[in-house]
Amino acid sequence: MRYVSTRGEAPPVRFDELLLAGLAPDGGLYVPEAWPTIDVDDIRALAGLSYSQVVNRLVSPYLGDSIEPDVMEGIIEDAYAGFGHAAVAPLRQISSCEWMLELFHGPTLAFKDFALQLLGRLFDYSRSQKGEHITIVGATSGDTGSAAIDACRGLKRVDAFVLHPKDRVSEVQRRQMTTVADPNIHNIAVEGTFDDCQAAVKAMFNDPEFRDSYGLTAVNSINWARVMAQIAYYFYAAVALGAPDRKIAFVVPTGNFGDVYAGYAALRMGLPISRLIVATNRNDILTRFFKTGEYRKDVVHPTISPSMDIQVSSNFERLLFEGMERDGAAVAKLMVDLDTEGGFHFEGDCLDRLRQVFSACAVSEEKTLEAIAMTWRETGILIDPHTAVGVAALRSDVSEPATPSVVLATAHPAKFPDSVEEATGVRPALPPHLSDLYDRAERCDTLPNDLDAIQEYIRERIAVG
Ligand SMILES: *Cc1c(COP(=O)(O)O)cnc(C)c1O
Repeated sequence: MRYVSTRGEAPPVRFDELLLAGLAPDGGLYVPEAWPTIDVDDIRALAGLSYSQVVNRLVSPYLGDSIEPDVMEGIIEDAYAGFGHAAVAPLRQISSCEWMLELFHGPTLAFKDFALQLLGRLFDYSRSQKGEHITIVGATSGDTGSAAIDACRGLKRVDAFVLHPKDRVSEVQRRQMTTVADPNIHNIAVEGTFDDCQAAVKAMFNDPEFRDSYGLTAVNSINWARVMAQIAYYFYAAVALGAPDRKIAFVVPTGNFGDVYAGYAALRMGLPISRLIVATNRNDILTRFFKTGEYRKDVVHPTISPSMDIQVSSNFERLLFEGMERDGAAVAKLMVDLDTEGGFHFEGDCLDRLRQVFSACAVSEEKTLEAIAMTWRETGILIDPHTAVGVAALRSDVSEPATPSVVLATAHPAKFPDSVEEATGVRPALPPHLSDLYDRAERCDTLPNDLDAIQEYIRERIAVG
């Protein structure tokens, strides 16, 4: 298996090359050269396997000969061993035809753990093979940072620098990052916004001298390995509910389009998915796109589902590539329009092709709180605001009411306790492994929103390590 860029100008690479590369040199994102498929009998044979076994079966066609199969099997087994539920990704029924797939039993309580627990171990393996020091640099609005930190803590010859906007992440999110004591973890609170943090990270990757001398590596969802890791739970859930003999719809709370794009990959591999419903909060660029074909940037509004407060979804480029029948030059042109004119319009067959698979729904703050309250009333289950956006989107979609539908529950309610309490009057408790989170010592340095200062900070710490 080799990977090509969505902008068509970069040479194809192997899995082990893209793992550390992040973006392709032409500015595009890597996608598989062709979709591997899994036939009906092989899907049926997934029934009854453990979560790790399902992952192993589904990722193997993507690896080529980059990693020995038995080594990979061990890495996968280890990645999910620390999850707090024996099923790893349990399904929970919420009405006669609706289920939630709980993706928050990982160490940091959001679905990001599914990809990052694997990615951290793959980085470690790659480093042990190539012998080089790896410097992970990432910006976070909360969940990615804590998941990346947990996945990289204690790794030898790997340093992780995570930038978050000072005073703009929730207290639980901040403490999950800053209470990790391992010396290879470096928390930086930037005096600025999430966009400032992201701009600083981008600038460091665009500085070839800095990037190459420190072995800079990206952990955000432009990394194909993250998408790959998320394909498995779509199969795992669908098979448990009767696939391949029954089609399943998935509702995916969406920000950067990584999670729902993994669902699309599952579909292309052969999983009978009837529909992928993209659920957004009031930052609705994707919903507007699927309804009108117009993809246009707007300002970011802060909401109670902050991990979806995104205007430009980086993985969406991967879907456009498919919508345009893999014409990299056409995608590159759209991306130029996005930069220079703030948007583009998509129409005709291209849009119809995507609409056969996707529908979309934007959910207001009020409807989000209502969905938390309703779920609590109807089932006695507390859900977090991101999951609630998915539940509300499902309830407003009446296209195929009898299709079994699965809402991805992307975060644990205790990660966002204020909104949950506002909607239900009940304050969700943190699971036992985090119950002393508020008593642990924090470690974090505050830096001005200044690229030189941030780079200097990183240089000093790597020289010492
Ligand atoms: C990151 C995140 C999302 C959005 O996922 P994308 O892959 O960026 O679309 C949704 N919910 C939670 C809790 C998240 O952390």
